[in-house]
Amino acid sequence: LLRVRSPAEYQRALQIIVDEASRLGRLADQLLDLSRTDAGAVQRQLRPVSVAALLCDTVDHLQVLAEQRGLTLELVSGQCGEVPGDEFRLGMVCSNLIENAIKYSRPGGHIRVSCRPEGNRTVVEVADDGIGISAEHLPRVFDRFFRADGSRSSGGAGLGLSIAQSIIRAHHGEISLTSQPGQGTIVTVLPGTMFKVQLA
Ligand code: ATP
Ligand code: MG
Repeated sequence: LLRVRSPAEYQRALQIIVDEASRLGRLADQLLDLSRTDAGAVQRQLRPVSVAALLCDTVDHLQVLAEQRGLTLELVSGQCGEVPGDEFRLGMVCSNLIENAIKYSRPGGHIRVSCRPEGNRTVVEVADDGIGISAEHLPRVFDRFFRADGSRSSGGAGLGLSIAQSIIRAHHGEISLTSQPGQGTIVTVLPGTMFKVQLA
C-alpha cells in the first residue's frame, strides 16, 4: 500500500489475504463450535446416529487424501447399531481422528478404522502406524492449541483433538489415546453411554 506495484504483486498479496482469511474463518468457526458444544448445544441435537454409516461416509470422503499420501485406509465395521447423538458433531469427531491418522503417518502406512459392539456400548477405534507421540507430549494432546514439535510444519491449529474430546464429553462418552513414538497411535472412542436409556 505504500507504493504502486505490478498486477502480479497485487495478485500474490491478495492470494495470501484470501488464504489467511479462510484459515482465520475456519479457526473462528471451530472456536465458536467448541464454545457451543461446551455450553450444551449437543443436548439439543440428539437423534439416533448409525456409527457404522457415519464412519463409512467419513472414510469415503478421506480415502482420496489417504491415497494421495500413499496410505491405505481400511474400515472394519461390526454390527454397531445406533447411538443417541448429534450426527454433525459426531461426524466431526470421526474426521478429526482420521485426518490426524493421515497427517501423522508415513508413506506406505496403514490406517484401520473400526467399530464394534462391546456389551451394550459401541467402541470406535482409529489406529495408525505413523510417527506416534512421545511420552512427554502425550498428556497434552487434548489441550487446545497443543501441537507436538514434529507436527508444526503440517498446518493445523492444534484444535482437532480438543474439539473431539469436548464433543464426546458432551455425549457423556469417553475418548482416550495411546501411542508409541515411531510405531503409531490408537484413539479409542465410546461415543456415548447414558443417553441410550433416554432414546430407547
Ligand atoms: P488441527 O487438528 O487443528 O488441524 P492438529 O492436528 O495439530 O491441528 P490435534 O488434532 O488437536 O491438532 O492434535 C494435537 C497434536 O497431537 C498434533 O499436533 C500431533 O502432534 C499429535 N497427534 C494427534 N493425532 C496424532 C496421530 N494420530 N499420530 C501422531 N501424532 C498425533
Ligand atoms: Mg488434527
